[in-house]
Amino acid sequence: MVDFKKNRCDEFSDSLELLNSISYFDGELTTLFKDKLKNELVVLNWVDCDDDYNYYLSFDTTQQNLSQFRTNKKDRITLLDLIKLGSSFFILRVNKNSDFDGVVSIDFTDIPENYLPTDNSYYDKDLDPLFEKTLLEFMQLEENGKICKCACHEKGQIMMHMVDCCNYTYIKYINEDGSIDLEKLAFLKMSHHQSLNVH
Ligand SMILES: [Zn+2]
Ligand SMILES: [Zn+2]
Repeated sequence: MVDFKKNRCDEFSDSLELLNSISYFDGELTTLFKDKLKNELVVLNWVDCDDDYNYYLSFDTTQQNLSQFRTNKKDRITLLDLIKLGSSFFILRVNKNSDFDGVVSIDFTDIPENYLPTDNSYYDKDLDPLFEKTLLEFMQLEENGKICKCACHEKGQIMMHMVDCCNYTYIKYINEDGSIDLEKLAFLKMSHHQSLNVH
């Protein structure tokens, strides 16, 4: 158990701006913030609770590492990897009114094992409210016929453009049967969106 009386620290940023949930199930599990002073991405990961408090692990991350976690690509990394690649670790104690109650700085090697996710902690789009929202947006666009149907998006097609047909020129999101791979579009938009959130 982390002792909140020792190592009380002021280093923890008080200029965090909420960007979005990465994982949500009956409450925030993993949440993305921006440190407005340092212009860095900060992740808060719920790790534990007792009768009075919730506990979170906070760490800094990069756009690149986050994109490698929040994806469906084969070379994606786990949440555990994301933490290991992170820096500036803190354990936060938050009371049941969602007020910060204590924070301690901690080295990665001192993080209690039960505060770390498993080797299998891959991103789960079904728990990501932003993914769900993005997918819904594309479903609506498809319904309204607003998704570009240019042949350059058809899987297996090779064609050249003089001028871009849309924001996703040459990206293959039209299946062989003519249906649209909405999940692929949602993932594309998300990685685009994530990179727009910083700077
Ligand atoms: Zn095109
Ligand atoms: Zn297009």
